[in-house]
Amino acid sequence: MSHRAWIGLGSNLDHPQQQVLNAFEGLAGLPLTRLSARSPLYSSRPVGPQDQPDFVNAVVVLDTLLSPLALLDQLQALEQRHRRVRQRHWGPRTLDLDLLLYDEHALNLPRLVVPHPWLSSRAFVVQPMLDIDPGLCLPDGLPLNRFSSAQPSNDLKRLAL
Ligand code: ATP
Ligand code: CA
Ligand code: CA
Repeated sequence: MSHRAWIGLGSNLDHPQQQVLNAFEGLAGLPLTRLSARSPLYSSRPVGPQDQPDFVNAVVVLDTLLSPLALLDQLQALEQRHRRVRQRHWGPRTLDLDLLLYDEHALNLPRLVVPHPWLSSRAFVVQPMLDIDPGLCLPDGLPLNRFSSAQPSNDLKRLAL
């Protein structure tokens, strides 16, 4: 049975728009997985340290036969193929891939917390998710649109792409 996984993408290094567009293709090519929707691209100011470039963000929906941890492995391998280097926490990166939702599951594993803990407090996640599904509800039943103006916008801007 196929599972519905929501992935948040972010990049602020080395041609961020192109990183995100390439990542769409990388995600579409994952094993046992189909890319079923993608949001527009957005730009926003960074969360955390401000001495780094603005981010480009987007969200995709995958239909996948991979388990949550197998999917996380694939996401981390794709980050590595984009030459992500882990420096400081919330620092600049070529590609960040977060597993936002996996069906209606709530997971609390050492490597994986789903729903992603910051999902509903980040405009650059909430807005593109609502672009894909305005009626989306979280596993606890709350409609996501309840959070749509609850966070700082960090100058969220939709990019003309
Ligand atoms: P944030 O969690 O605030 O978005 P980040 O994306 O910068 O921070 P990373 O350095 O990319 O954090 O990831 C740190 C660790 O988070 C990863 O090694 C991974 O095991 C773990 N992790 C836990 N839950 C998730 C999730 N839902 N999606 C992706 N990684 C997760
Ligand atoms: Ca992240
Ligand atoms: Ca991450």
